[in-house]
Amino acid sequence: MEDLKRYIREVPDYPKPGINFYDITTLLKEPQGLRATVDSFGRLLRDRVIDKVVGIESRGFLFGPQLAYQFSAGFVPVRKPGKLPAETVSQSYQLEYGTDELEMHRDAVSVGERVLIVDDVIATGGTAAATAKLVESCGAEVAAFGFVVELTFLDGRGKLSGYDVETLVRY
Ligand code: AMP
Repeated sequence: MEDLKRYIREVPDYPKPGINFYDITTLLKEPQGLRATVDSFGRLLRDRVIDKVVGIESRGFLFGPQLAYQFSAGFVPVRKPGKLPAETVSQSYQLEYGTDELEMHRDAVSVGERVLIVDDVIATGGTAAATAKLVESCGAEVAAFGFVVELTFLDGRGKLSGYDVETLVRY
């Protein structure tokens, strides 16, 4: 799985000095990289029953629908505030400075459904933890999290303890 690293571009000091940005557009544009990514998630999660895949705005949208197709599940977008047209549930979470918020349509997941939450990168885990709260507030269950990239030094996994967290490459 580590050979997926060769498709991921590291951009130093983006979007601000000191941040090393893991750019997955270079993985998406390579047919072998894209196929290996989707297949790897399929193998890691093959024993799970998944009713819905929830993708986190915005790069979770690039992988979520492909995984939903593979698991014969539906796809649900979790978005920044004000983007979804119908009734939403919302969850705020802590950033380094200040707070941010995520929203999901209230009827997007149902009581008892099993949900896979997907994003490109897990850093501190705050975004993913807030998404889990959204899913659970609607009575659904988080079956697993799937991330292409895990930044282990930020211990996002710690914020998701008790959950099944699957990642393809680690830095
Ligand atoms: P966090 O809530 O800290 O786990 O941040 C996760 C979100 O920020 C994800 O949606 C990622 O796309 C993005 N992100 C955070 N750090 C990076 C990074 N170094 N490179 C690329 N994306 C990142």
